[in-house]
Amino acid sequence: MSASFEKPRAADGRAPDVFSHDGWLPMRQYREDEAVDFAIVGTGAGGATLAAKLSEAGFSVVAFDAGAFYRPLADFASDETAQNRLYWLGDRISGGEDPVEFGSNNSGRAVGGSTVHFQMVVLRWRPEWFASRSKLGYGRDWPIDWREMWRYYDEAEEALKVSGPVRYPWGPPRGRYPYREHEVNAAGLVLAKGAEELGVPWAATPLATVSAPRGKSPPCVYRGFCKSGCSTNAKQSALNTWVPRAIAAGTEIRDLAMVGQIETGVDGLASGVVYHRDGQWRRQRARNVVVAGYAIETPRLLLHSACAKHPDGLANSSGLVGKYFMVHSNHAVWGVMQDEIRWYKGPPSMAVCEHWNYEDKGKDFHGGYAFMSQGPLPIDHARSLVSDTGMFGMELRQRMALYNHMAGLKIVGETDAREQNRIELADETDEFGIPLAHVTYAYSDNDKRLYKHSLRFMRQMLEAAGASDMTETSSTAHLMGGCRMGTSPSDSVTDADGRAWDIPNLWICDGSLFPTAGGVNPSLTIYALACRMGDRIPALASRGEL
Ligand SMILES: Cc1cc2nc3c(=O)[nH]c(=O)nc-3n(C[C@H](O)[C@H](O)[C@H](O)COP(=O)(O)OP(=O)(O)OC[C@H]3O[C@@H](n4cnc5c(N)ncnc54)[C@H](O)[C@@H]3O)c2cc1C
Ligand code: SF4
Repeated sequence: MSASFEKPRAADGRAPDVFSHDGWLPMRQYREDEAVDFAIVGTGAGGATLAAKLSEAGFSVVAFDAGAFYRPLADFASDETAQNRLYWLGDRISGGEDPVEFGSNNSGRAVGGSTVHFQMVVLRWRPEWFASRSKLGYGRDWPIDWREMWRYYDEAEEALKVSGPVRYPWGPPRGRYPYREHEVNAAGLVLAKGAEELGVPWAATPLATVSAPRGKSPPCVYRGFCKSGCSTNAKQSALNTWVPRAIAAGTEIRDLAMVGQIETGVDGLASGVVYHRDGQWRRQRARNVVVAGYAIETPRLLLHSACAKHPDGLANSSGLVGKYFMVHSNHAVWGVMQDEIRWYKGPPSMAVCEHWNYEDKGKDFHGGYAFMSQGPLPIDHARSLVSDTGMFGMELRQRMALYNHMAGLKIVGETDAREQNRIELADETDEFGIPLAHVTYAYSDNDKRLYKHSLRFMRQMLEAAGASDMTETSSTAHLMGGCRMGTSPSDSVTDADGRAWDIPNLWICDGSLFPTAGGVNPSLTIYALACRMGDRIPALASRGEL
């Protein structure tokens, strides 16, 4: 790792200008002994969005991130291995019947969070999923109506200038995407051909990378290094959208700042955070604390912040902190095409099929899944062939020699929210002396029926598109739940505003709030929840309810 990533950059009243090679932006600075209105832990999809909205509403905000503050133009290489530093690679103990693999496939550590290396697929939920128990007979209802979420999806898509099709074939009628869709690459056209052969709709994937210039962001040049961080700034991550907006509105960002504990006073209320930066432990006082560390780090921090008033961890009187943790199943089918495909050209998933999210007939499972065309870079693909199929030696070499002819389809599969899938504190500790997260996970029988159905369907589709010599891989993607929102303190951790039932000045704003997983990638819903919280908190303040 370059030395420049080991020292905080956002300091002395300035922060890196993400649209330059070496420039700076002025940044407000707060004293540590001065109680700011909000201390936010994490600057990803949830934290950065909320920081911007709260600062714009006039609150004083300091946002902390354990990761570095990068300038994409200077710091991101088009190189699969050099960019590993964007991932949360700290140890986690993974157990249960289906242990989750951690690292590059599920969480990030940088200012901008996991969105710095995410694959930019931004999809809305099927409206019924916000009330899946009442409307579809499984899962659990969210405490927010889908129509309200729809308004915040509009706001989030506008903030990210999502590029999408004129007519998206699934869901209720919606307005135009802010930017036109990207031209679908050859890998996406394989999905399109298969879908047309099988008689199901498909669409150009709505993506958070611009199809035309936006300010200092040039249009996407289809280089395919999205998962390694985008070195052109075409990708609209939290790092180059909400973070600059937050700084302009008065947020102070503290990079390379690992929060180890949320402090509480004798009244049991949150009073600030203890964090490690530049070789020492420090303290920031705050009138409110927001945890936005994503679905493992958020419960981990709440559990580790146990104190005399909250002996089982903060916000945990229901015993539900860490419980109902979810992933998406991420099974895939890969095949070889006669023609050259060169699937690495362009964002990895340029075509999508949500047929099985919206069709309830003909299923032997509840829930749904989307699937998308694929374009993994060579190391990524070789690694999944080795770990999932056991392929190695000459067979692997021969398979990888077909790399430019390959096509693949991969699901984002809904999984059940189950209490036994959980985050706990381990006895082992990390380099800061904080107990590691111990993650226990097992698929339900329904989850297994769902991914088996998807493998059959995607195989049929690839065959119909002309693929041969197929292989399958299994994996998981995305992290959700662990601090679910709800309508009652006895069976949820927060209310619909992300406000902890037990501690009214403690908030959660990230993917851990999800009560159920849905069958699409989670970031747009996290952005929308954060936009909503960014309106709700000022509204509560104006009524004297903060
Ligand atoms: C490879 C990959 C591809 C993905 N592709 C997509 C996609 O195409 N579409 C999609 O919708 N989603 C995608 N996702 C998932 C998406 O990026 C996440 O769901 C989303 O970013 C989560 O938002 P969040 O705010 O909950 O957490 P994050 O964005 O992960 O932000 C959490 C931040 O908190 C920081 N943090 C955690 N604990 C602490 C602490 N104690 N102190 C200080 N800082 C802390 C972390 O460093 C991190 O920066 C992808 C994820 C990965 C890994
Ligand atoms: S394909 Fe587009 S979004 Fe992805 S790295 Fe290249 S320019 Fe960035």
